[in-house]
Amino acid sequence: MIPYGRQTLGSEEHAAVAGVLDSDWLTQGPKVTEFEGALARQCGASHCVATSSGTAALHAICAALGVTSGDWVWTSPISFVASANCARYCGAKIDFVDIDSESRTLSPQALAVRLADARKKGQIPKLIIPVHFAGNVCDMALIYEIAQEYGVKVVEDACHALGGTYQEKPIGSCCYSDAAVFSFHPVKTITTGEGGAIVTNDQNLAERARQFCAHGITRAGARFDRSLQSDDRGAPWYYEQQLLGWNYRLTDIQAAIGIEQLKKLDGFVDKRRELFAVYNEKLTELPLKLPRARADCRISWHLYVVELQQAARRREIFNRLKESGIGVNVHYIPIHLQPDYRALGFSPGDFPASEAYYLAAMTLPLFPSLTSSEQNYVISVLHEVLA
Ligand SMILES: *Cc1c(COP(=O)(O)O)cnc(C)c1O
Repeated sequence: MIPYGRQTLGSEEHAAVAGVLDSDWLTQGPKVTEFEGALARQCGASHCVATSSGTAALHAICAALGVTSGDWVWTSPISFVASANCARYCGAKIDFVDIDSESRTLSPQALAVRLADARKKGQIPKLIIPVHFAGNVCDMALIYEIAQEYGVKVVEDACHALGGTYQEKPIGSCCYSDAAVFSFHPVKTITTGEGGAIVTNDQNLAERARQFCAHGITRAGARFDRSLQSDDRGAPWYYEQQLLGWNYRLTDIQAAIGIEQLKKLDGFVDKRRELFAVYNEKLTELPLKLPRARADCRISWHLYVVELQQAARRREIFNRLKESGIGVNVHYIPIHLQPDYRALGFSPGDFPASEAYYLAAMTLPLFPSLTSSEQNYVISVLHEVLA
């Protein structure tokens, strides 16, 4: 079976892991710090906090931004469930903004309409989480401008987009957001097994997020609580738990893999872009809507998603590709249609563009080690099935 996505690891990652296993530190050692520095440089952001997953990163940044019960958080329905679940972990209420059918990312027009309406109801969200779906970058300049008008915070869910650029700046530079979040799950652009990260240019926000990722504990003297009487403040063993956090740390073993993977990022992105271009060229005659990149971006394509004009045949087409050894997939079932979200009151028809996209969507294999003969096989089977 040719999978839809997979990791690309080499002898460098093996050697790096072996080096950590022979060292004094398995977790929270020098490799995590080195990885955070390398990732911040890659993104052009001033701070990076490595986390145990992308989900942990989303949860910790929501908490660090002060998202709490009574707040609203908005994201788009076409994403992995973690983009929405993070708000609910903080006790906040979740709502969605429909996608733009061309870019398949959060529609700034829909956002503007929804925010005007929310103002009337006194329900302006605290935070919006635009998702760079498939790697295609949201219209961040416009989204940020609209968000600022209403005093709404912005966190980019950039789990699909590491290595891309937007208006000539790397994804993660946070020019148009308060922070951005990455995942290093094996299907993502680089992997650490499980893992994630937050990047931001706001030092205070980074420190708060780091604290939430380590039980709410700080050892930084400057952050100690001077309002309380304490005889041992200043003692060498002293630390303070100042808020309720979690253990969301990345390990040195994982960070060592990440350091090696980051060195290969540009090559991975080039390969993904080449494969993308071949698909777009060789599938153009077929009854498919093909993905299109925003003009002001150099996209690091995470997923190659086509929309079938014969959407009613999707299940049959999907099965025929599977039977031919092609690991197609569907990204994503709209989050609001999941049973756990229906129980919150969402129902079919709430976000028509997302639902229409979902009915036709199918993800084809895309990963750096996909060979051109494998890709040509996928293309020829698709031609046959759609003929
Ligand atoms: C993968 C992913 C996540 C979650 O990341 P994990 O590392 O799997 O927890 C969140 N959002 C999006 C868009 C993702 O693709």
